[in-house]
This record gives sequence, structure tokens and C-alpha cells, in this order.
Amino acid sequence: MSSASLIVGPDRNGRTVTIVDGVVAAAAPAGTPVLACADGEIAPGAVCAHTHIYSALAPYGMPKAEPAPENFVQILERVWWRLDRAIDPETLRAGARDYVAKALLAGTTTLIDHHESPNLIEGSLAILAGACEELGVRAVLCFGATERNFGRDEAMRGLAECRTLKPSRLVRGMVGLHASFTVSDETVAESGALARELGTATHIHVAEDGADVVDAKARGYAGPLERLIALGAIMPGSILAHGVHLDADQVRLAARHGAWFVQNPRSNEGNRVGYARNLSVVPDVALGVDGWDPDMAIEQAALSRLAAQNGDEAVAGDRAAGRLAAGHALMAQRFGLHPEPLAVGAAGDLVVRRSGTIADVVVAGRHVVADGRLTTGDAGALEAAARAEAARLWERMAQL
Ligand SMILES: [Zn+2]
Repeated sequence: MSSASLIVGPDRNGRTVTIVDGVVAAAAPAGTPVLACADGEIAPGAVCAHTHIYSALAPYGMPKAEPAPENFVQILERVWWRLDRAIDPETLRAGARDYVAKALLAGTTTLIDHHESPNLIEGSLAILAGACEELGVRAVLCFGATERNFGRDEAMRGLAECRTLKPSRLVRGMVGLHASFTVSDETVAESGALARELGTATHIHVAEDGADVVDAKARGYAGPLERLIALGAIMPGSILAHGVHLDADQVRLAARHGAWFVQNPRSNEGNRVGYARNLSVVPDVALGVDGWDPDMAIEQAALSRLAAQNGDEAVAGDRAAGRLAAGHALMAQRFGLHPEPLAVGAAGDLVVRRSGTIADVVVAGRHVVADGRLTTGDAGALEAAARAEAARLWERMAQL
């Protein structure tokens, strides 16, 4: 019997979910293992539709930037674009394992990641994929190509790294671009061509801050979205993170090209780039954490709060849950599965809650969290290893 087959339930509502070879099925062969949960409640696992696993070590004592950043580009230059250059294989592996463990324990069953490590391009996606496969989270991975450190050669190596990812039951690849403002026309065009060649789509930060808009206008485009479209980098399935500085017509334009948006409300608030007010004019908007801790209940609560503050009635209060439903459909599109969670043909990803807390987590039929404990690794040891690597990372960052 495949370890990807499992019958879960019936739960206290009488619900049973049957998973065969990682996918929800109408019936299972005799002898399929059963996870009983008569006192629990089955629910879909959560999809985090945009994150940066490479920033996993940041909570473990990352020194404050000096001098303190005063705008978004300074935050990138003084924090994240130093951290990413200091990443080596050991820090990436330790951070990834800890981040994946925390995601699973929070009931997040899919991570859609946008990776950058300019001094560790080749092999970086294999490290991330290895951690995801080992601990059992579903993942969509890409390397975010950029020219901001070493020019065109850097971008071509980033795109080539996207080509190396081998799809598996748990992992799919996309083609990443950092953002319009750090790449040339050639790189934008090549990213679109590569995504079409590989049968996937692009994953790009778009209009997170006004700086991206100013840059695209200086290059002669109406904005970064129009530039990406003109150069062929937006296609059905593309993931556009943020869209804070797009107007409603631009958001609709992206949707007509088949793109998804991912809103990252905690990150946008933290970076003081604004609230993504216009995303609600289209339905295909998922929720991401942009490198923050991968607990989607916390992100959803932040969205509820910020939507209410900003008069975004479409997602204020309980309606914020619609973003998570869109995330399921986004994940399903990448894996060729049914978009409705827990329907026959959908991903075999679910959680069992007891008294409101996550007790069990199943991903592609594999029982990865049991009674609130990770079954595929020692979460405490993974965090200790991550903290040890974090200390090394801060030393290297200080030398950059
Ligand atoms: Zn991001």
C-alpha cells in the first residue's frame, strides 16, 4: 500500500475523506490505512501562495539594519539584499527545514516560494525541494532571476536554475523574476519564453512599491505590468505578488491575461508600501506571507483587520477566507488537480482540528503531523539547527 493513500474520518460531522496515491478519491482499495478522528473536524489544508523560505532565519536574532531604512528600496538594500547574498547551502537547508516544519504544524500544506540567493544559484532549488520532500509539504518553487548584483549573467544563471527543477508528486516549478525594476528587457523576454517552453508560468513581484512603477515609466512603459505584458512575461497561471500600486484597470488587465494576484497584507504593512486596495476587483487573488511565519490563520486575521481599515469590503471580516479558497485553486492549477478542496480529484491535503487547534495534517495522503507533532522530523531539533545556522548567517551578513 502506498504511503500516499489514507482514509481520514469519519470526523465528528460524519465526514470521511479518502486519499489514493495522493489525490482525493471516491473509494480506496481494501487495506488502506485509516486515520480515525471522531472527535475532530476535517478541513482543507492552507495554501501560502507567496513566500521566501530563504528568510526563515530572520526571526532568530537578525541584527537591525544600520542606519535604519527610510523607504522600501532601502529595506531591500540594507536587509534582504544583504541576507540573500550571505546564504550558503547549510543556512538554506537548515532554514528551509525549520520553515517547512513550522508551516506543516500550522496546517499550511502548500508553500509557493520565490527564491533568491545570488551567491548560491546553482543547486539552490534542489536544496529547497529536498527539504519539502523530506518533511512532506507540497511546494511550487522558482528562482527569482535578477540583474541587481552581477548583471545579465546573473539573470541567465537564475533562469537556468528554474530549468533544473524536477517535478514530483509534491513539487512543481515555475519561472521566477525578481521584479521589473531589477531586470533588462532581454531577461524579461527570456523568462516568458522559458516558462512557455517548460509548460509553466512566471512568478514575479509587481508594483509592490512605487519605485517599480517609476522605473518602468523611465523605461518608456505605462508601468511594470504593461512592460511585463509587452515583453511576453505574463501568461495564464502567472503569479503576480503584491500589485499594491496598480489601479483597478491594470488589475483587470492582468486578470484578462490569466494571471493570479497574491496579496501579502502583513508584509505590505511592515514595509509601509500601502494596502493593495484594487486587487478585489478580480476574483483570482490568493494570500501569501512574503517570508513571514507561514501560519495562514495569522495572515488571514491581518487581512481582515487591514481590509476593514482600508474600506476593502470584499475581504473585510470573514470574507478574507475567499483569498484562501483562491489559493487552493491556484495550487490545483499548477498540479493539474480539482480546484475545489477535498473534492474527488483534488489534492489529498487536509487538517484535522481538535478544540480549534491543528491536531493532524495530511499532505498528498501522507500523515505528516499527528497529535500536533511532526512525524517526518524532530521540530525542536530542526529549530535548534536553524538557530545555530542563523548565528553564522549574521556573521557573514556583517562582512558584506
Ligand atoms: Zn515577495
